[in-house]
Amino acid sequence: MAATDFPAAFGFVASARSGGGRLPEADFATRGGRTGVEAALGTRSLAATLVHAPGFPPDAAHARSTDTAVLLAGELYNGDALRSVLDTGTAGDAQLLLDLVHRYGPHAFRLVNGRFAAVVSTGRRVLLATDHAGSVPLYTCVAPGEVLAATEAKALAGKAGPRGFPVADARRVRRLPGVYQVPAGAVIDVDLDAGTATTQRTWAPPLARRIMEESEAVAAVRASFERAVAARVTPESTPLVVLSGGIDSSGVAACAHRAAGALDSVSMGTDTSDEFGEARLVADHLGARHREITVPTTDLLGQLPYAVWAAESVDPHIIEYLLPLVALYRALDGPARRILTGYGADIPLAGMHREDRLPDLDTAVAHDMATFDGLNEMSPVLSALAGHWTTHPYWDREVLDLLVGLEAGLKRRHGRDKWVLRAALADALPEATVNRPKLGVHEGSGTTSSFSLLLREHGVAEQDLEAAKTDVVRELFDLTVVGGRRPEEVSTTDVVRSVADRITKDAA
Ligand code: ATP
Ligand code: MG
Repeated sequence: MAATDFPAAFGFVASARSGGGRLPEADFATRGGRTGVEAALGTRSLAATLVHAPGFPPDAAHARSTDTAVLLAGELYNGDALRSVLDTGTAGDAQLLLDLVHRYGPHAFRLVNGRFAAVVSTGRRVLLATDHAGSVPLYTCVAPGEVLAATEAKALAGKAGPRGFPVADARRVRRLPGVYQVPAGAVIDVDLDAGTATTQRTWAPPLARRIMEESEAVAAVRASFERAVAARVTPESTPLVVLSGGIDSSGVAACAHRAAGALDSVSMGTDTSDEFGEARLVADHLGARHREITVPTTDLLGQLPYAVWAAESVDPHIIEYLLPLVALYRALDGPARRILTGYGADIPLAGMHREDRLPDLDTAVAHDMATFDGLNEMSPVLSALAGHWTTHPYWDREVLDLLVGLEAGLKRRHGRDKWVLRAALADALPEATVNRPKLGVHEGSGTTSSFSLLLREHGVAEQDLEAAKTDVVRELFDLTVVGGRRPEEVSTTDVVRSVADRITKDAA
């Protein structure tokens, strides 16, 4: 493991104030070393606790000049392009952002393709910025004289109190009054003296659709995707791909192998179902060092509190997708890893779309692109709770712009879902993989059915299953994120039992 295997910081809690610095302390789900940093900027200050890979000081995660300080969790993928517009040859992602902010002000964030959350203190303003996808969640609590910001909502629990000002265009966080989530692809610009905030968008999904020749579209997708995967691989270590054997993660595996010259892969299954054969086919084809991990179904559901604690999401469908992945990340023993996933390809390509008629396909893409924000599906905390760093090349800003913007007939074509992607990867993978229909991770691992089964066993009727899942996830959120309970102290079965009792009583 080398320093550059990981971003300099995975997360932070920060306080930007008028007056002297106050180092905020907090609980995180993110595992790692913690380092306090403080910048006195004339009459103001920016103080933060950074969470980072143990043993590596997070020097590249903070930078300052006389009047401006920058904090950064995560990493940038277009560093060379960003450096090309500056005269200085800067080292470190936070320093690069500082130089960009000096040159472009808050518009600097319109230039960045990355996976990050950032805080900038400059003059009387505090900027809170997310990447285009909001893939590193960022929360804030704003009051005159002090802005708190953190990459996990739980880090701000109990800190807002009655002081929190409303933040226009930002989402409230359930049961945490005064705490708001910074939208995806946005900069919240706070006037520290007044406590007022305005939100600027730095990215929006394309609304228009491009018509391209088959071969041109296929070549563009391949080139863009290869670049995105290569930007996520470091020369110091072999990349690890979480591999289901579906086209999405197999495509990542093929490109990562090409970029790094070597590949590790891992597949997860349960005692009720797995995709081991399909994943093994790909791993063998690429010559990857491959592992299979089986998690018993009972253990899987026992990890629901961890999934909610990490994702800080109350959407039960999202939690069902994420649960097997959280279980997989937790089961990866050994040193912390940089992990690439195939997550999210289905959203721009409408991979769930099963019929040839196209109008519904674009409706699905538009709907999903308008509603992903705040679900936290791509949060790094899901793996960082076990010390690992994840990154999702299909949601690279350039790949996403390209995929969303392709006309629907390139996505569904010749009777195939995700046609353009399958064609783009056809020469790199076994034919069976290229033609394999989609199976979601919650299906491949049997998560959905085992969650339903557990509720049925506690007497929940078929028509109440969805409502019961919603209640279970909310209750877990209230216990772990709002209430500060550690996930190991929370029992899924107890929560399921109390929700089931309430629902069956209401029904009687
Ligand atoms: P894929 O085509 O790769 O299966 P998908 O569109 O079906 O992707 P999901 O199955 O929902 O998406 O899973 C999202 C990502 O999570 C996958 O791309 C893969 O990286 C990882 N993943 C899913 N299932 C497994 C599994 N059983 N073992 C390891 N990783 C998995
Ligand atoms: Mg799958």
